[in-house]
Amino acid sequence: MSDSQDAPHTLQVALGERSYPIHIGPGLLGDPRWLAPYLAGRQVMIVTNETVAPLYLERCRAGLPDDLEVRELVLPDGEATKTLASVERIWDALLAAGFNRRCTLIALGGGVIGDMAGFAAACYQRGVAFVQVPTTLLAQVDSSVGGKTGVNHPRGKNMVGAFWQPRAVLIDTDTLATLPPRELSAGLAEVIKYGLIRDADFLAWLDAEMGALRGLDAAALTRAIERSCALKAEIVAEDETEQGVRALLNLGHTFGHAIEAHQGYGHWLHGEAVGTGMLMAAGLSQRLGWLTESEVERVRAILEAAALPLAAPADMAVEDFLDIMRLDKKNLDSRLRLILLRAPGDACVHDETPPETLAALLAEFPR
Ligand code: NAD
Ligand code: MG
Repeated sequence: MSDSQDAPHTLQVALGERSYPIHIGPGLLGDPRWLAPYLAGRQVMIVTNETVAPLYLERCRAGLPDDLEVRELVLPDGEATKTLASVERIWDALLAAGFNRRCTLIALGGGVIGDMAGFAAACYQRGVAFVQVPTTLLAQVDSSVGGKTGVNHPRGKNMVGAFWQPRAVLIDTDTLATLPPRELSAGLAEVIKYGLIRDADFLAWLDAEMGALRGLDAAALTRAIERSCALKAEIVAEDETEQGVRALLNLGHTFGHAIEAHQGYGHWLHGEAVGTGMLMAAGLSQRLGWLTESEVERVRAILEAAALPLAAPADMAVEDFLDIMRLDKKNLDSRLRLILLRAPGDACVHDETPPETLAALLAEFPR
């Protein structure tokens, strides 16, 4: 990790010649210093959605030099729009504008926009530049970093995509001021996840600063985002295509995906489901003798402080969880692979949970 120029905070994702910076701080969006260096040529397309455009599109444009050919594409909002059809709209707009291989896409929005614009960039003319400008906390700490791009298929979420790294990630913490509180909490779940998997000191700091974070204190947010991105960048640099350690980022996600899938996507926010999923993973770790009761209680308390749900959906039976979890992408062969905790701050991949232990956890977990 290195500091550069005079950005409040800059990290580097170390991926050889595909390395890129993450700039974090308030007031970055309208400031031309932070976008211009990452444009491949004069052709720029800002991809955003109907919710984000009225809030931040003008500010984003103001951060671009005057002598560019700038186009904008405003897509509808929502996870349901994360489809190949939307990506085709991006390609259509690029072709209609006559954009060539030296164009740059700017993804201005949450993870849905980032995933789609990134995938459009990965494929357009076999790959063009793109810059992530994430505007949700979840996108700032998770989806904008690491190069996973893609769309949903009617048969499954994120089933079509590519690894395609951005030229830069520009995180303006001011954008969080307009984020609905539920979305902020969902992002905090992923922030807590980084502490739980890899950094006990960060977890303790989050415990102390949760009030400041929920109150949108800029210094606290910058620090939380910076540490989260640093941890994700470290993991991605070690394992770009998820052959090993990157799997730890899925803490809480196998349980969480089961909740999302059972409830119908959109009813529970992803981060909410992951939060409850992490509490389930902690409970299972306790049953395996790895965590103490008070450590599980600590996990519960920090999720509660982040205003995340602490109980599974009332209508989800043990078999509902098991049926969906068995289909999880992370299972190699037929063994159920789970990310569990050896301690708060130390996660591991485990594929030897006795089925009866898992079933007991699921049966006794609060609804
Ligand atoms: P999202 O993109 O749907 O954004 C959530 C809501 O907030 C949307 O309604 C959006 O329009 C709105 N919004 C965005 N910025 C705002 C702002 N500043 N003020 C007010 N409203 C704002 O959801 P998300 O949680 O950002 O991302 C979820 C998506 O990210 C999922 O599709 C998920 O699969 C994907 N994801 C990808 C990765 C990855 O590695 N690529 C990782 C995690 C999640
Ligand atoms: Mg996630």
